[in-house]
Amino acid sequence: MKSDRREAPLALVVDDDAVNRLLTREALEGAGWSVEEATNGREGLASFQRLRPDVVLLDVMMPEMDGFATCAAIRNLPEGAHTPVLIMTGLDDYPSITRAYNTGATDFLTKPLNGLLLTHRVRYIVRASRVLRELRDSQASLLQARDAAIEGTRLKSEFLATVSHETRTPLNGVLGMADWLLDTELTPEQRDCAETIRASGQTLLGIIDNLLDFSKIESGKLQLKHIDFDVQRLLDDAVGPFQERARGKGIALSCLTQPPVPAWLRGDPDRLRQILSNLIGNAVKFTERGQIEVHADLDETPKRQNPIEERGPAASGAAKKNNAKLIHLRFSVSDTGIGIAQEACTRIFKPFMQADGSTTRKYDGAGLGLAICQQLVELMGGSLRVDSVPGQGSVFQFTVPLERKAD
Ligand code: ADP
Repeated sequence: MKSDRREAPLALVVDDDAVNRLLTREALEGAGWSVEEATNGREGLASFQRLRPDVVLLDVMMPEMDGFATCAAIRNLPEGAHTPVLIMTGLDDYPSITRAYNTGATDFLTKPLNGLLLTHRVRYIVRASRVLRELRDSQASLLQARDAAIEGTRLKSEFLATVSHETRTPLNGVLGMADWLLDTELTPEQRDCAETIRASGQTLLGIIDNLLDFSKIESGKLQLKHIDFDVQRLLDDAVGPFQERARGKGIALSCLTQPPVPAWLRGDPDRLRQILSNLIGNAVKFTERGQIEVHADLDETPKRQNPIEERGPAASGAAKKNNAKLIHLRFSVSDTGIGIAQEACTRIFKPFMQADGSTTRKYDGAGLGLAICQQLVELMGGSLRVDSVPGQGSVFQFTVPLERKAD
C-alpha cells in the first residue's frame, strides 16, 4: 500500500467549504497526518486516483458531484474498494447517514466537526480497515493454499492411478510367464525360483491393486454395485483362498452365518469380499496359533451402535428409499493373534500406517488394507471397528446396510 512508503498517513478532504477544509486539516495535521484537499467530488475522485490516500473525508452537499456519488465512484475503482471513506453529515441528518452507508461509506462524521473526535475516529477507522485488509489477504492466501492442496491431491491420485495401471500390465506378463514356467519340467531349484517369482509378483500385484483402489476412492471415482448375492457364498469365497495358508500355520479357520441372516441380499459382493479378504488376510498374517472365526449376523440395534442412516452415499441413495427392505448385516473376523496396542487402534486405519515400527520390520505390507476397508465400509453407509487385547487377539467388526433380494 502507498501509505507504507509515506512518512505520514495521508487523508484526502473533499469539501467545497473552505472553513471546513481548514478545520479538518488543522485537526489531522496536529495528529501527525498529511492532508490533501479537493473542492468538489470530481476533483476529489481525480485526487484519489493520483494520491491513493489512506482515508477520504467527504462532504455531502457539493456542486456537480455530491458526496454520495463520489463515494460510490471511489468504491467502483479497484484501488478504492477497501479504502476507508467517512461522509460528513449534518448532526441530525439521518437520511444522509443511511444513504452514506448505502453508497459504501465506512462511517460518518457529524458537523460541526470536533477536532479531537475527528482525529480519533479517523485513526480508529484506518486501523480497523488495515486489520480487515490483513484478514482479507490471509483469507485469500488460505484459499489459494486450499486450492493448491486440492489440485495437488487430484494430481497425486491421478499419478497414482496411472502408475499403478501401467505397472499392472507388465506384471501380469511376469505372472503369466511364471505360471507357464511352473507347468513345464523344471529342476527343483528352477521350480523354487519360479515359485518365488510368482509369489513375489502376486504380492506386488496386491500392493498395486490396493494403490489403485485407494486412489479411486480418494478421487471419488469408485462406484458400488447393487446386485443380488448369496451371503454364504460370499463368506466361502472370502475364506476359501486362506484355508491352505491357515492350515500351514496350524490355525483353524472357520466361517459361520447366524440365522436369521437372509440367504440372499442386495449390494456389492465384490467389495464386501475385498473387505473380508483384507481382514482375514491380516488375521492369518498376525496369528501364530489358535483360531480365526468369520461371522455374519443381523445387527438388530444399528442406530445405537452405528448411526448408519446419517452417513454414506449408499445409505442416502437407493438403499434409503427402500428402508423397509433394509437390514443391517454385521461381519466379524476374530483371531487369537498378536493383538494391537490400544493407542495403535486408531492409527492402523490411516493410510500407510502399521501398528508400530517393529511390526513394519517383521511383517510386510504397505499399510493400505485397513484404510481401504474403512473407506469402502463408509462408502456403503456402514462403519468398521476393532477391539483388541495385545497378546490375546483382535476382533474386526463392520456393519453395513443391505437390501433384501429384489422379489
Ligand atoms: P498391512 O498391509 O501393512 O498389513 P493394513 O492396513 O492391513 O496394512 O494393517 C495395518 C496394520 O494394522 C498392520 O500392519 C498391523 O500392524 C495391524 N493389524 C491389522 N490387522 C491385524 C490383526 N488381525 N492383528 C494384529 N495386528 C493387525
